[in-house]
Amino acid sequence: MVDKSRLANTKGELGPICDKCGTLLTFGESCTVEQQYVCYPCYLELTGAEPAADTNPNPGLRMN
Ligand SMILES: [Zn+2]
Repeated sequence: MVDKSRLANTKGELGPICDKCGTLLTFGESCTVEQQYVCYPCYLELTGAEPAADTNPNPGLRMN
């Protein structure tokens, strides 16, 4: 469950705030890393994942 104090209203949707840079996100834009919400650039930075690389530990879960 998400801590409501870390949610913000963005683009008409309630969404999380990036834990790393503070960017307001929608749930569709956010990525989760170790139960933190982060934006996609921060997600790449935290995980070191290349955008084109398939490093998803859940092959059945496709995020487009
Ligand atoms: Zn961020």
